[in-house]
Amino acid sequence: MPPTVPESFPATWSRPVDAHVHGSVDRSRRLALRVVDPGSTIAEDRPRCWGLHPWTLEEATWGERFETLAAQARRGELDALGETGMDRLRGPDLSLQEDAFRAHRDLSEELRLPLVVHNVRCGSELLRLRKSHRSDLPWLLHGWTGSVTQARQFLDAGCLLGLGRDLLHPESPRRALLARIPRDSWLLETDDSSLPIEKLEIVAGSITGQDLQELRRQQHETFARFLGTPRHPSFPG
Ligand SMILES: [Zn+2]
Repeated sequence: MPPTVPESFPATWSRPVDAHVHGSVDRSRRLALRVVDPGSTIAEDRPRCWGLHPWTLEEATWGERFETLAAQARRGELDALGETGMDRLRGPDLSLQEDAFRAHRDLSEELRLPLVVHNVRCGSELLRLRKSHRSDLPWLLHGWTGSVTQARQFLDAGCLLGLGRDLLHPESPRRALLARIPRDSWLLETDDSSLPIEKLEIVAGSITGQDLQELRRQQHETFARFLGTPRHPSFPG
């Protein structure tokens, strides 16, 4: 069966998928979900997302920034929300981070937009926030570095994992994780690095036993499922 890639992002399997990118992207070479600057509306620069990163939150200003974000999302100018999330090691007080995350989660539900989530040692909090809301929209836990047990809990809750440069380290625990989770449960990403996504494809394929064509086909399918909203007939449910 052919993959159900949303029509607005025509893709061929010759292009790799990059699920989370900061910085500029040559879209002829990658099907990438790019984190854009506030207000960016260049028509061909899609798919794109925007969110308040937890490191940037300030009590006095985040509400106003969030309203700007919400207005842009309501105009249909974003394909996903994020990156947003919670970070135990950096950023303001966790209660403020949680307030901001809840606001993103609720907007994501309201507009049926998937969420790109930053998580540093806040897996339990984020799982609680997912389950308490019975969300059925996919969240991409980008740059996953948590445990296998917690990875499974997020997958069971309908989330996806983003895996990146960490896979290049031969000793990375993410290699063992990748070998054990379903092939439709993760996406590759370069994040803020200049690493070619093709390098990650080669490593990931060698771990999962997929050849390049099979890996790309699967990544396109998973990416389409992640981005699939009611605007795209491919969205399940
Ligand atoms: Zn990022």
